[in-house]
Amino acid sequence: MRTYGRKIWQERRQKDPFYQANVITQGVYLVLSLVATPIGNLADISFRAIETLKNCDYILCEDTRHSAILLNHYHIQKPLRSYHKFNEISQLDSIINDLKDGKNICLISDAGTPTISDPGEKIVKTCIENTIPVTAIPGACAAVQALICSGLPTDRFQFCGFLPKKENELKQEILSTLDYNGTTIYYESPHRLMDTLEMFNQLQPERRLVVGRELTKKFEEMIRGNAHSLIEFWKNKDIKGEIILLISPKEKNECTWEKLTPEEHVEWLIDHYQISKKEAIKLAAEMRGVPKREIYNRFLEGKD
Ligand code: SAM
Repeated sequence: MRTYGRKIWQERRQKDPFYQANVITQGVYLVLSLVATPIGNLADISFRAIETLKNCDYILCEDTRHSAILLNHYHIQKPLRSYHKFNEISQLDSIINDLKDGKNICLISDAGTPTISDPGEKIVKTCIENTIPVTAIPGACAAVQALICSGLPTDRFQFCGFLPKKENELKQEILSTLDYNGTTIYYESPHRLMDTLEMFNQLQPERRLVVGRELTKKFEEMIRGNAHSLIEFWKNKDIKGEIILLISPKEKNECTWEKLTPEEHVEWLIDHYQISKKEAIKLAAEMRGVPKREIYNRFLEGKD
């Protein structure tokens, strides 16, 4: 069955380089499968994920020792090959060659959905360029898990990965988020959470925040409040575990910059967030989707 399926796929590909066979529904596996794994609770994995892992030729994973725990638990005995952010480019050619030879390869990450703040985007892109089918076996993703339990709007949201570490970049990132009219989701480190909350307290003390910690695990918690109440909650505590931060959308009565001229926008940002003119120009440009120089020139012109 597998050889037969591979032959059809290869013949079709020769005739039409854009052909992408729906090989999974034919019961033939000739693809890269992105397989979601648990984000804490080992039971959070689908039957199809286990079947797919059991039937592949080999599994790409970030840390072979870490993934061995999950795979041993489900009696999955397949070769593991290390694939992480430091070797994902050097590994590409040989993985693509294996896929072209008809190998069936799975990609997993340490936890959750591959490619979401984890390696995988490059191999997916390269497979598509080579008309190699890619499929995903759905499962846990910390960002979605936190969003659906948060009580914040789910009809519009943005996921922005990890918050920057440098103070100035963090400030710019938070300021650009405050204008978004949906829920914003960030991955955050437990060691930096308090500094991030302090920054929110300074910039937008009234904004509703939700922090998800250790989701799906024994000490799972979702803490809701403004920055000040969250700081009080964790004051003098050692914050441990995995953290997600969610930010509520901009309130309707908050300033909508659309009605302001670029100059008024910059002045409003300076007054409201106590930031420098340089920072305000950069932020206004980002919010308006125009080059920084365009806003800067308005000030220069005003001086004449
Ligand atoms: N690919 C993963 C996914 O689908 O969620 C995310 C990988 S990213 C490298 C790891 C980050 O996700 C953690 O630092 C944390 O911010 C968040 N995270 C992962 N598991 C979590 C959990 N159980 N509870 C809260 N946050 C979690």
